[in-house]
Amino acid sequence: MIDFKELTQKYKTPLYVYDFDYMAAQYKELKEAFRGRKSIIAYAVKANSNLSVVKHFAKMGSGADCVSIGEVRRAFLAGIPAYKIIFSGVGKSDDEIREAIERDILYINVESEAELGRVEMIAKELGKVSRISIRVNPNIDPKTHPYISTGLHDNKFGVDLGTAKRMYIRANNSDFLDPVGIHFHIGSQLTELNPIRESAEIVADLVRSLEGINIELKFFDIGGGLGITYDDEKTIKPYDYAQAILGTLTALDLTILCEPGRFLTANAGYFVSKVLYEKQNGTKKFVVIDGAMNDLLRPSLYNAYHKIEAITESTADERPVDIVGPVCESGDFFAKDYMLPELNHNDLVVVHSTGAYGFGMGSNYNTRGRSAEVALENGKDRLIRRRESFEDLIALEQEFLEN
Ligand SMILES: *Cc1c(COP(=O)(O)O)cnc(C)c1O
Repeated sequence: MIDFKELTQKYKTPLYVYDFDYMAAQYKELKEAFRGRKSIIAYAVKANSNLSVVKHFAKMGSGADCVSIGEVRRAFLAGIPAYKIIFSGVGKSDDEIREAIERDILYINVESEAELGRVEMIAKELGKVSRISIRVNPNIDPKTHPYISTGLHDNKFGVDLGTAKRMYIRANNSDFLDPVGIHFHIGSQLTELNPIRESAEIVADLVRSLEGINIELKFFDIGGGLGITYDDEKTIKPYDYAQAILGTLTALDLTILCEPGRFLTANAGYFVSKVLYEKQNGTKKFVVIDGAMNDLLRPSLYNAYHKIEAITESTADERPVDIVGPVCESGDFFAKDYMLPELNHNDLVVVHSTGAYGFGMGSNYNTRGRSAEVALENGKDRLIRRRESFEDLIALEQEFLEN
């Protein structure tokens, strides 16, 4: 049991709290699932990019999947070795590509023919060989939310199989490119195994066809996306996930790369706010809390469900309420028609499953400073990011007031 009352007395609200022991257990379960096969778990830094979180995974031997050079720099700062860092994303700038090559990371995940051309040019300018992998789009419906589905032809990620093959041939013939991997990531919050298995089969077939023309890859990058339980969803067990993928790799000697984000951190995180007041508008009852959409965007952005727990002395009957923040947007809510008892000023509201895509999607909208972040590890709590002050928020503007 986490003592949120004590934590919020010490660190104030709104507050993000992360259970580092839970993250470690998730990491170990997934790593163990691939036992018997060379594997790298490359933590998807975007899920929760706090340096202490990334360092926590680094200490367990994790790699990092990064989608900007900023994330690559975070991975290095947190102690992840270059040979376990990969760089993905549909739009990499020349500067980002240059730095990734100079830093000699494991590979750049290329997502288009045009990008392959840029990577080759830049590697040539640097007089280096860039290791690459190509993100293929197996055109499988992942059966998840359309905003987080990425493996179908009509979205912006990856390339189709035919294009991928052409790109591998071109890369293989280049003096400045070394094709070492193949990558697919069909979506996030995957709760069904079949789309993953079908995608792995399609991609494994492409690997075999490349072997037929003497292009030998080393890394089979299965992306991330492993779903978690937010409410009462049934999800995929890491062991079954690993077996489904390994089953498609018969006679292929490839190192598995897996890029989980949400699976490792989501259910380790709690977003804690204080109740400001309740109010009634017509037939609607609102609970106004001191956290807002600038702290946690998922409900507003995806209509995402998060379990909510009230910490209160109140023994009143539960009734449906909308839990909302102070930001000037109707979309500023955490839950609608959620059953909670009558709450009092300073009671706590804890939003569960917020360790992934929580703090990182935050903003300073309405000139609200971002929350503090706290880690819990071995029964101890420690600050891993201090609360932003007003001075922090204006620091990059203040000097221009003179003009
Ligand atoms: C976002 C992303 C991930 C992580 O997704 P999760 O659903 O958090 O596991 C992994 N790989 C790539 C390429 C991504 O874009």
